[in-house]
Amino acid sequence: MNCPKCDKTLEPDRHGQLIFDGQVWCEDCHRYDDRLLERRSFQDLETWAQRLCRAFGQEPVHLRRDPDYLPDPRKYWDGATFLLGEAFHEPRCLMLHPPGHQLMSLCHELAHLFTGQDHTEAWARNFATLVAWVKMRL
Ligand SMILES: [Zn+2]
Ligand SMILES: [Zn+2]
Repeated sequence: MNCPKCDKTLEPDRHGQLIFDGQVWCEDCHRYDDRLLERRSFQDLETWAQRLCRAFGQEPVHLRRDPDYLPDPRKYWDGATFLLGEAFHEPRCLMLHPPGHQLMSLCHELAHLFTGQDHTEAWARNFATLVAWVKMRL
C-alpha cells in the first residue's frame, strides 16, 4: 500500500503515522479534519456507531466504557502513545478510553469489527472509508 500523493510505502501496523481519510495517506501528505479529532460525549459516539453500523450493513456494535474509567488521560499513556480504544470480537463490542473519545478512534475500532482483522491493509482501507463517510455527514 502506498501513499496516493507521494507514493511512500505505508505500513498499516504503524497507523499512528498514517492518515485514514477516503484513502490511506502518509502524515506528510494529508491531515484529519479537526472535527474528527474533537472530544465528543460518549452518547454522541454511540449515535455515530449506530449510524455507521446501519449504513454499512453491520450488526449493531455495543460501546463500553472502561469499568475502571478515570477521566485522567495519564492512565491511558503507555510511555509512548495513548491507548485510545480496544475492539472485542466476542462479544462484539468496543471500548473507547477518554483520549479516544473522538470520531477518528471510533472509526479505527469499528473497522476492526467490520473487517474482523487486526492492522491489515483491508482494515486500513475500511477505516479510511468509514472516516470519509462520517466526514461527509458532519
Ligand atoms: Zn505521502
Ligand atoms: Zn487498532
